[in-house]
Amino acid sequence: MRVCALYPDLMNIYADRGNLLVLEHRCAWRGIGFELSSSGLGEPLDADAHDLYYLGGGQDRDQRLCAEDLIETKRDALHAAAARDAVVLGVCGGYQLLGHSYVLGEDEIPGVGLLDVRTTREPDPRLIGNIAIEVSLDDDGKSVLAGFENHGGRTYLGKSQEALGRVLEGHGNDGRSGFEGARAGNTIGTYLHGPLLPKNAWFADWLIAMALRLDLSELAPLDDAFERAAHLSARRAAGV
Ligand code: GLN
Repeated sequence: MRVCALYPDLMNIYADRGNLLVLEHRCAWRGIGFELSSSGLGEPLDADAHDLYYLGGGQDRDQRLCAEDLIETKRDALHAAAARDAVVLGVCGGYQLLGHSYVLGEDEIPGVGLLDVRTTREPDPRLIGNIAIEVSLDDDGKSVLAGFENHGGRTYLGKSQEALGRVLEGHGNDGRSGFEGARAGNTIGTYLHGPLLPKNAWFADWLIAMALRLDLSELAPLDDAFERAAHLSARRAAGV
């Protein structure tokens, strides 16, 4: 499993590194090789060398820096990677940058446009708190993702853009629509920090399976007692 973290030093608030550690350990526990690389400001991005591309959360100031670089040096590779069905996962600030734009007053931070979403910073208070959403990733029923959100931006889905899930408790994309995140094939954006994967090990496995083009049933089961407890605790915190 070859993972590339984009801007791991700048886009890494709310312990996004925990997401990468979960991927690494769940692969290692199953004897699946794991390779983590990174691509920072000014560095090129290889469209073929990775199975999963990760873009974490960031503050507005850091997002601005990364957005410019993303467009200049990584946009085409990210589109090519998504087109060959590599997994592209953006969390919070990373999610916003996967969309078309993030508008802050007079300023517009451009995104890479992999997801048909637009984000605006409105004068309203930040959307903060525990959150749980219902998702149906495959045809085999619904599951719950639980986490923590803290964003000033409100994200609006384009007309035919699929959301990642429906808010059960919390704010989600804009605090009103009931939608959370966005998904286009294996490109996924979400506001759920937590970090996301330690609280939702089942979702980490889904991402691993997608990235490696495996059926979920081909991943050896693990003893997930702690992971399940973490998931249930995150759900309880959100009131679900
Ligand atoms: N800076 C963005 C916002 O406030 C993203 C925040 C984050 O990644 N937690 O909306």
